[in-house]
Amino acid sequence: IPVAPFDLIVFGGTGDLARRKIIPALFRRYLAGQFEDGTRLIGAARAGLSPVEYRLFAKEALKEFSAEYDENSEGLEDFLNLLDYVPIDATGDDGWEELKTKTSTDRVQAFYFSVAPSLFGALAERLNSYEIAGSQARVVVEKPFGRDQETARALNATLAEHFDETQIYRIDHYLGKETVQNLMVLRFGNMMFEPLWNNHYIDHIQITVAETVGVGGRGAYYDKSGAMRDMVQNHLMQLLCLIAMEPPAIYDADALRDEKLKVIRALQPVAPHHIVRGQYEATDTAPGYREDAGNLRSFTESFVAMRCEIANWRWAGVPFYLRTGKKLRARTSEISIIFKALGHSIFEGDTTPHRNILSIRLQPNEGIDMTVTVKEPGPGGMRLIDVPLDLTFAEALREADAPEAYERLIMDVIRGNQTLFMRGDEVEAAWGWTDPIIEGWEARHDVPKQYVPGSSGPEDALMLLHRDGRRWRDIK
Ligand code: NAD
Repeated sequence: IPVAPFDLIVFGGTGDLARRKIIPALFRRYLAGQFEDGTRLIGAARAGLSPVEYRLFAKEALKEFSAEYDENSEGLEDFLNLLDYVPIDATGDDGWEELKTKTSTDRVQAFYFSVAPSLFGALAERLNSYEIAGSQARVVVEKPFGRDQETARALNATLAEHFDETQIYRIDHYLGKETVQNLMVLRFGNMMFEPLWNNHYIDHIQITVAETVGVGGRGAYYDKSGAMRDMVQNHLMQLLCLIAMEPPAIYDADALRDEKLKVIRALQPVAPHHIVRGQYEATDTAPGYREDAGNLRSFTESFVAMRCEIANWRWAGVPFYLRTGKKLRARTSEISIIFKALGHSIFEGDTTPHRNILSIRLQPNEGIDMTVTVKEPGPGGMRLIDVPLDLTFAEALREADAPEAYERLIMDVIRGNQTLFMRGDEVEAAWGWTDPIIEGWEARHDVPKQYVPGSSGPEDALMLLHRDGRRWRDIK
């Protein structure tokens, strides 16, 4: 469905995120026919490029990062011709008068802050002092949103000086994934799951976000954050909230975010022995985390696994096991709901406990599947096996044309739909939960355990579940 002409201004339009994600996302939405004539896409960054040079930059970006890139297609040319560029200094006066002439206050204006958070304040202030932002202006910001509760509060306060909360869109691209939204429909659009979605029927929940890459060239930056800040505080906690929250009365931004906030507030402090931190080791051929980070005495974790508890009626006694890390066995993001085993089996000789597992995969292939117990085919009597239930809709979920996270989120900004974006109080509350954990490590000089690249993380992470008589799902 096309949307009325709007202006999208990408501050940091020459940066890495613009190249890899934003420009390719805009191209796909353009090809899908969503931009009406008159829509303006404007890059704004420090580099002194002309609009023509910026189009060449965008073309290179598409060549590298867009599957739809076709050198000779009309669509490509037309899209590139839509792009404009203004050299701008976020902290000075250069470029702002020019930008003002290129955008109108009488339409939706999306200002994407794809720059370091230290520039958010300067940008927000100038958008107002130069009277560039109109009443339909929106601001999009990226992670990291602060590095603790205090800095997140300060960022929120800075943005609030210039924009209303309804105008601020904090991106967590995990929420833009098709399957994550499907998780909500699965829970609240079906009769058969929600009645079981509690501590009577669920044994535990696992959330795994595994990467195969190391920190590579980003080592120096990453070393100041670590897996807890970089992944758990945002992506994993957002997933946890969507699984654990109570049904909102309506599917609406604030109703949903109120429920997510309640989950975060009900999260219990995590005892040190319920967390395992790790760093990947060096191999004969590849440097280890510490070498990659350029800090041989680094205590920063490239892996974290933890056992969390939510203290409310629904979840009391159900552990949520979270883990994420770099240089693990496979690239996969998966949420698994492990149901309780049957209390009693009527089938003689059937001694293995069977469990239903509902598993929601975010990558590499977004999809949902469920393990059910069935009779092994054949004449051998009642032998039971656990097999994936062939959900035929799984094919429909993998539809090639499904918009990617950034496409959906950018279009939501244009449409003014904040449902899939984090509210300021949510982000602050999330830091409020992770801060004491991180402070504890720092105070104890906690040393991460080394793990073999390509493995499932440190041995101790396996023990975290073994101690509870459970085991992690394979990373595959
Ligand atoms: P980058 O360093 O590649 O690009 C920074 C951009 O900011 C450039 O376009 C540069 O010209 C512009 N810029 C810097 N100083 C400026 C100034 N004074 N005035 C005007 N423009 C200025 O950064 P990036 O990797 O694209 O990241 C952008 C933001 O997105 C950061 O907040 C980052 O943390 C976040 N982010 C990036 C990624 C990613 O994959 N790259 C992922 C998640 C979040």
